[in-house]
Amino acid sequence: MKQRFCLDKGSDQSSDETEPPGCAAKVLPADLINRSVRLSPLSMPKPRGSNRQKSKPGQPYPAKFPINPSANAFRRRFFPGTSVADWNDWHWQLRNRICGIDALARIVRLSEEELKALHGEKASLPLAITPYYASLIDRDKSFQPIRRTVVPVTAELLHSPGEMEDPLGEDHDSPVPGLVHRYPDRVLFLTTDYCSSYCRYCTRSRMVGQGGECRSSYEQWNKALDYIEATPGVRDVLLSGGDALTLSNDRLEWLLSRLSRIPHVEFIRIGTKAPVVLPQRITLALTRMLKRYHPIWMSIHFTHPDELTAEVMHACNRLADAGIPLGSQTVLLAGINDDVETMKRLYHGLLKIRVRPYYLYQCDPIPGSSHFRTPVAKGLEIIRGLRGFTSGYAVPSFVIDAPAGGGKIPLLPDYLAGREQDALLLRNYEGKIYRYPDPQSTWGAI
Ligand code: SF4
Repeated sequence: MKQRFCLDKGSDQSSDETEPPGCAAKVLPADLINRSVRLSPLSMPKPRGSNRQKSKPGQPYPAKFPINPSANAFRRRFFPGTSVADWNDWHWQLRNRICGIDALARIVRLSEEELKALHGEKASLPLAITPYYASLIDRDKSFQPIRRTVVPVTAELLHSPGEMEDPLGEDHDSPVPGLVHRYPDRVLFLTTDYCSSYCRYCTRSRMVGQGGECRSSYEQWNKALDYIEATPGVRDVLLSGGDALTLSNDRLEWLLSRLSRIPHVEFIRIGTKAPVVLPQRITLALTRMLKRYHPIWMSIHFTHPDELTAEVMHACNRLADAGIPLGSQTVLLAGINDDVETMKRLYHGLLKIRVRPYYLYQCDPIPGSSHFRTPVAKGLEIIRGLRGFTSGYAVPSFVIDAPAGGGKIPLLPDYLAGREQDALLLRNYEGKIYRYPDPQSTWGAI
């Protein structure tokens, strides 16, 4: 079978900053027209007050959606005739995803490895990249971190021992299609198999982008909702996919309103990469709608500090201003973000846009992932390089999602150095040993 490109047709194709596509969405008229705005990426902060647009008092960012200078240059070069308003319309971004070899070859010089992979037979994950995210890709360097996360290479076709289609055993813990119930008090609700851009290391590569049609049918959702309703122990529902924020506002609101009527559901989380690969999705209409269903929390999938553009900053600020606590989830990837300095830049940047670094994941052993996976020791080295050397808020939990359904298992560098009489010996971040009186401890017996 040939490599598949953009088989998924996830969203319908309408336009405005404020309202929905999704699989069966109705289109509402635009109520906000974007104008061309140039902002610097976060990596090049301007002095306060230097933005061309004026912020409202108390609002640290301009009211209208920005376009950073390099994205703007990319738009002019590869999408001439496309207005900034269209570019900033998330429906336009979805309609114009880069999904095939020809489209990709127009914007980057494909390496031999990439070309072979794109013509290959076995890749299971489609290729799709939003034009916005493609604007972050280096045209010439095939080893550029962002490029590596979305452009396939031949190593993806190589299946190594220990790799599995469903490494987390989610299918085994699925009481109804599209719902994973592993932990006692919470469920994972797979709302769609569609993402705006596909990450080459995706844990759910066995299912995302597979259908050629959106699988988020109301019939399937109703079965999942019935299960949640009938299971009083479920107090926390994580809406994910695919990417839950590729659903239209109408469909997302339908889900949220149904969940909010279930008395034992205490809060809802949304897992998404949209603020990173499709920040234009964070419209004012979306945040207005989400605010009606608090408490809502959001886990955002970040990979590299180069993702922290003016657009992403704007999207996260809108979400945070809507009262949504934001956390990041990052997969540790070899040659992409596997060093302390890169992670520190990412986490410092996230804190500036009110995203708390939450999880650092060891890469799951999906088929064709060996080129992405680091030794586990690398994750510990990164945590050791952060803890104590920077704010505690900038230090995520490093976890392995245990194969075969073991769940998330946190790993920490060894700060317990031993025991001496009635004291514990503790190693601090500088490697110095300190004694803590602990006469009653049974720790030595553990
Ligand atoms: S956004 Fe998430 S679900 Fe979609 S391809 Fe990336 S990792 Fe997979």
